Amino acid sequence: TIDSARLASMFGAIADAMSADRDRLCALDGVIGDADHGIAMDLGFSAARDAVAALDTGSTDPTTLLNAAAKSFLNAVGASSGPLYATAFMRGAAAVKGKATLDDADAVAMFQAMARGIQDRGKAEPGEKTMMDAWAPAAQAAGEALASGKGLAGSLEAAAHAAKAGAEATKAMIASKGRASRLGERSLGHMDPGAASAVTVIEAMRDALT
Ligand code: ADP
Ligand code: MG
Ligand code: MG
Repeated sequence: TIDSARLASMFGAIADAMSADRDRLCALDGVIGDADHGIAMDLGFSAARDAVAALDTGSTDPTTLLNAAAKSFLNAVGASSGPLYATAFMRGAAAVKGKATLDDADAVAMFQAMARGIQDRGKAEPGEKTMMDAWAPAAQAAGEALASGKGLAGSLEAAAHAAKAGAEATKAMIASKGRASRLGERSLGHMDPGAASAVTVIEAMRDALT
């Protein structure tokens, strides 16, 4: 089971992964966007890590912790990814309301609520060359793996695998949402930076929660 201390360490793990990935994400965004995606994600997850590290995890439930992460992420990030991930964590928070610890089904429900939150906030459908192209298949794969009895480790492993394939597939897509949509066909051949960072987030979640 996952408690608030474990979720706090998850934010630490994502922040570490994002700072290691920062330059690659900025370079990807430099090709089809404005080159700030690595900076945005690094800033956002460092802020979220610091905000949740300041809480007393013994007396803070997962919902309160996830909402604190959402608020700090939103305040730290000026780019489009700010409200998208803030909504993800707010929806994750709502999905586990009233629980002191999360079992496997709760954790997968939190994960799927995050993906749904990004979709509701950004209104991107899969195929539009955004982070949804990683998050949507990841959420679906996690649900299917859990339903087939794989447990949280197998479910997040399936999610990470699906996210990676989804991010790879964005190379063959023409962007129709976000900054890259201004490029039209010139966005073809390049991986979407938000989909790339989603893989990093999901892999860090898998490693931290299982
Ligand atoms: P900005 O474009 O404001 O500089 P970032 O560089 O932080 O923002 O993030 C860019 C990423 O945000 C894109 O690569 C894409 O994955 C994602 N994105 C942009 N708009 C949307 C949207 N409406 N829905 C989902 N994801 C989006
Ligand atoms: Mg950008
Ligand atoms: Mg920007």
